[in-house]
Amino acid sequence: MSVADKIRHYQSQLPPHVTLVAVSKFQPVEVLQEAYEAGQRVFGESREQELRTKHDLLPADIRWHFVGHLQTNKVKYIAPFISLIHSVDSERLLDEINRQALRNNRVIDVLLQLHIATEETKSGFLPDELLTLLSQTDIAQRWPAVRLCGMMGMASLTHDEAQIVREFRMLRQCYQALLDGPLAAQGITADTFAELSMGMSDDYLLAIEEGGTMVRIGSGIFGVRPTP
Ligand SMILES: *Cc1c(COP(=O)(O)O)cnc(C)c1O
Repeated sequence: MSVADKIRHYQSQLPPHVTLVAVSKFQPVEVLQEAYEAGQRVFGESREQELRTKHDLLPADIRWHFVGHLQTNKVKYIAPFISLIHSVDSERLLDEINRQALRNNRVIDVLLQLHIATEETKSGFLPDELLTLLSQTDIAQRWPAVRLCGMMGMASLTHDEAQIVREFRMLRQCYQALLDGPLAAQGITADTFAELSMGMSDDYLLAIEEGGTMVRIGSGIFGVRPTP
């Protein structure tokens, strides 16, 4: 199947409430263009420099999502145009995104990344850390230019489906606990804190069953990734 066929395949298979994020990291612009021509408008990248280059070369109506680990000193480069940052994993990063959003006169949408996998290498907040942070912070005052739109998680790299489901449930439970607790207390509801970004090529069906609203599909669309 061509990239265009894959895009149409996923678009027709996913429930209407689920957004397909085409994770195009390391793929050349021609391949993204092909996906674009098949109707894909949401692309996920994980490196700031690569994202900027592609943003400059490809159509302006693409919504660019950042899905990888984001260093605070790189926020300024993507702040003018980024549509959603999935991978917010620290207080410092939230502060910097807010600062750069203000400088660009815009509000930046973000997801809070939760550490749900067993691998130490994957980043993200711990559930308690997030509960404490949001309980002790006046969100509107500290991050007026950031909109908390939901949460993201990456399950462990394993074939054990029961474990993957447990990890997705942990994400969903944390999402609900934040909504019912510190977010409700500050007037933030599921109207805006609405997204659960979970699921990649190998586990997106499980993720959707567990309540995922955004799936991040790379190799399932583009095939094996070229090495950067
Ligand atoms: C690369 C990447 C993906 C896509 O992974 P595939 O297994 O190729 O679908 C999804 N999410 C994040 C955060 C990634 O870095």
